[in-house]
Amino acid sequence: MSKQLLKIASDFGSPIYVYDSAIISNQYNRLTNAFSSVNKLRINYAVKALSNISILKLFKSLGSGIDTVSIQEVQLGIKAGFEPEKIIYTPNGVSLEEIESVAKLGVQINIDNLSILEQFGTKHPNIPVCIRINPHVMAGGNTNISVGHIDSKFGISIHQIPLLLRIVENTNMNINGIHMHTGSDILDIDVFLYASEILFETAKHFEDLEFIDFGSGFKVPYKEGDIETNIEELGKKLSKRFNDFCKSYGKELTLAFEPGKFLVSESGVFLAKVNVVKQTTSTVFAQIDSGFNHLIRPMLYGSQHEIINLSNPKGRERFYSVVGYICETDTFANNRRINEIKEGDILCFKNAGAYCFTMASNYNSRYRPAEVLIHKGKSHLIRKRENFDDILQNQVEISL
Ligand SMILES: *Cc1c(COP(=O)(O)O)cnc(C)c1O
Repeated sequence: MSKQLLKIASDFGSPIYVYDSAIISNQYNRLTNAFSSVNKLRINYAVKALSNISILKLFKSLGSGIDTVSIQEVQLGIKAGFEPEKIIYTPNGVSLEEIESVAKLGVQINIDNLSILEQFGTKHPNIPVCIRINPHVMAGGNTNISVGHIDSKFGISIHQIPLLLRIVENTNMNINGIHMHTGSDILDIDVFLYASEILFETAKHFEDLEFIDFGSGFKVPYKEGDIETNIEELGKKLSKRFNDFCKSYGKELTLAFEPGKFLVSESGVFLAKVNVVKQTTSTVFAQIDSGFNHLIRPMLYGSQHEIINLSNPKGRERFYSVVGYICETDTFANNRRINEIKEGDILCFKNAGAYCFTMASNYNSRYRPAEVLIHKGKSHLIRKRENFDDILQNQVEISL
C-alpha cells in the first residue's frame, strides 16, 4: 500500500488526498449487515463528509442514498445519478425558499425548526415532511460536535412537542418521518439507545410515518486507544428494538441512518511533502507543503491524525512537531514520534476521508489539493489540482 501511495504522490504531485473504494464498500457492508434483521433499511451517506462526485457515484453503486445539507449538495447528488427519492435534505437555518426549491425536486425534506415548519405546512400541506427532533442527549465531551444537547441550534426540542403537534394539526400537514442526529461523537451505544427511546416516544404521536431516521454519530478510531462504535452490537440491539416498535406501531417502517465519518474517514489519507526540517531550541519542526487550508481538523477540533513517514518507514523514531507552510500557526501534530524525517519525504496523514478535503480553502492563495480514488487496484484522478486560473476565476479586476 505505501508503495502505491508513494507512486501516487510522485505521479500526481503533493499535497494530495487518496481514497480507497474497498474500505468504503467494506464499511457500508458492515453497517447493512449489522442491521440485516430490519427489512426496510436505508443508508443515506452524509455528503458533506466527502462530496466528490466520483465518491457519490461509488455510494450509488453500493445502493446507498444520500443525506444533504444544502441545495448544492442535492444538485451534486442528482448530477451523480441519485433519484430524488434517494435523497434526504437536512438543512439547518436555511431559508424557506431553499427548502421549497428542494421539495419541488421531489427530495424528502427534513425541517428542524417550528417557524419554518409552520410556514411550510401552511403553504404546502400535501408535501410530506420529516421533522428533526432534539432529544437533548449529550453525545461526547466536545461541545463543538455534540448537537443534541440543550444549547444546540439543531433540531426541535422534545419539550416543544405540544406546540409542534398543534402546528401539524392546524396546517393538516403530513409528517412522514422523524429524525435525530445527536452529533459526531457518540460515546457509547447506551447513549445512542437512550436517545432512540426518546425518538420512539415521539414517533407515537404521528400516525402516518414511513421512516425513522437515527442520524449518525458513529465513532471511528483516530489514534491508538480511541474507541470505535461497536456497530455490530448496536445493530443487534437497535434492530430488535426497532422491529418491536414497528409491531406496536402497526406498520413496518424504514430504519434510516446517515453516516459520514463512519463510511469514509478511514478510507482516506492525505499525503504531503516535507519542505523543511527546522531544528529550534525547543523542538524539531517538519514543515510540509500544506497547512490548515488543506487539512483543518487538527486545528479546528484538536483531532489527532496519525502521521507516517512513507519515505523512511524503518528509520529510527524521533520526536517532531509537524507544521504547515502558511503564515499562521498551523500545527498538525506536537511532539509526535515519527520515523526520522528528511526534507523531501512524503508524510501520510491517516483518517483523512471525512471532513478534510471538503473543508479545504484557498487561504494564502494556495491551490486546493488533488484527489485520487484507488478502485479495483487502479489509481484514478478524481479531482485535478487547482491552478492559478482557479484562484482568479471569480475575481473582478476593476480599473483604479
Ligand atoms: C454531518 C451530518 C451527518 C454525518 O455525521 P457523521 O458524524 O459524519 O457520521 C449526519 N446527519 C446530519 C444531519 C449531519 O449534519
